[in-house]
Amino acid sequence: RVPSVRFFSQLPDKAFVNGKWVPAASGKTFPVQNPVDESLLVEIPDMDSEDTKAAVDSSHRAFQKWKNTTAKERSDILLSWNTAILKNKTELATLLTKENGKPLQESVTEITYASSFLDWFAGEARRCYGDIIPSPRNDRQIFIFKQPVGVAAIITPWNFPAAMITRKIGAAFAAGCTCVVKPAEDTPLTALALAELAAEAGVPPGALNVVTASRSNTPAVGKVLCEEDNVRKLSFTGSTEVGRILYSQCAKNIKKISLELGGNAPFIVFESADLDLAVKGLMASKFRNTGQTCVCSNRIFVHSSVHDAFVAKLQQAMKQELRVGDGLQQENNQGPLVNRNQFDRFLKLVQSAKGEGAKVVHGGTPLPSVGPLFFAPTIITDVNPGMRCFVEEQFGPLVAICKFGTEEEVLQKANDCERGLAGYFYSRDVSQIWRVALNLEVGMVGANEAVLSACENAFGGIKQSGIGSEGSKYGIDEYIQLKSFTFGGL
Ligand code: ADP
Repeated sequence: RVPSVRFFSQLPDKAFVNGKWVPAASGKTFPVQNPVDESLLVEIPDMDSEDTKAAVDSSHRAFQKWKNTTAKERSDILLSWNTAILKNKTELATLLTKENGKPLQESVTEITYASSFLDWFAGEARRCYGDIIPSPRNDRQIFIFKQPVGVAAIITPWNFPAAMITRKIGAAFAAGCTCVVKPAEDTPLTALALAELAAEAGVPPGALNVVTASRSNTPAVGKVLCEEDNVRKLSFTGSTEVGRILYSQCAKNIKKISLELGGNAPFIVFESADLDLAVKGLMASKFRNTGQTCVCSNRIFVHSSVHDAFVAKLQQAMKQELRVGDGLQQENNQGPLVNRNQFDRFLKLVQSAKGEGAKVVHGGTPLPSVGPLFFAPTIITDVNPGMRCFVEEQFGPLVAICKFGTEEEVLQKANDCERGLAGYFYSRDVSQIWRVALNLEVGMVGANEAVLSACENAFGGIKQSGIGSEGSKYGIDEYIQLKSFTFGGL
């Protein structure tokens, strides 16, 4: 039987708790908009701290049974969920594009990427081995058990409404945890559709609860998720500012925490680089989701000897390849910014760069004739590292370029940053590749490649970009606690 989601004909208008579609206890709702024209898609429940406590209780009850399922049982459910998502790929992608604005082809890619974590962690569940430790005494043996931490609270952003959820839940379910998910207020519909497919794939009531809340209720919901005793783990993807709040709230009862926070990725083009490959890499890493990802290249450093040639090739590629418009139209590959706040913030960032002396080579203005939240793909040069567009995450279609002279200088500039998520560089000098890969202060580095994400790879940042790793063989550890067992009297 192939599950299908009724939400494709009728948008979800309830949250999902304890296997049921429920309103907020207060009856309040909030609007979800289509960023293409800011039109209303649907109103959904605006839940508060009481609703969240009920969801936590439900997940806690479900955990008592779920933790005793076998790894094979959980693996089978993850595989069924994966199949259900892939069977409904186009419909899920369409829903995702409607609420997020990313072009349909990108949404399809995201859904496939999202489901790959379920497939991956279905395998990892069955390989989550403990240890036998050589004992210092013959009268006892020492074992290490791996046990699920308990209920995991999961707070996700709007830029990957599907993948940020499955990357976390896949690992949580594999470990034997149950989950309360709070999706971003801009993009809760994909999360609800995924929950419906999960239920049809055999995820039991309470094992996956989805609590929806508006921007104004979110802090109260977040506080419950951080402070309830029955939540034993918080996994968050979003801004460093919010991550800092959640980290401190979780200190109250010493919660296990994973944080995937903002980045400020350097993209370095050295003298020996293959410029065509570098342009291809920059196009892929900069313009995914219209520049709205935490691993998007943010600070572009180009060696002065290849600067002009690189800029000319990049401009050519942008003219040829980027088509801005409604993502539901197949020909478009650049959507709007996700909401009015993000648009206004991005516009100010570009204006301030111009004011600070950056030169606009391409684009540089909003595109109101396309829609209220669209911006032209833009190149600015003559940027220096003190400018706001190098200090802050841009989260928009901006290529900001700074010239450099030596490897030492560019490494110093690239590392002079409090964040360290992804970093990319292009070079054909083998010893330079080794040196720069070792010395860039980031959690993920690509040499001659700017697409790093894969379920097999470890995703995570250093410095103020976060704590912990997702995906890969390491991802499950975030939801596991070790218990050492000494078996004596032997
Ligand atoms: P972005 O800048 O990408 O919107 P945010 O960090 O603001 O990133 O949002 C990421 C997620 O964190 C969203 O689900 C949002 O609702 C949630 N969030 C924002 N503020 C809080 C808060 N105070 N407590 C808990 N969650 C929050």
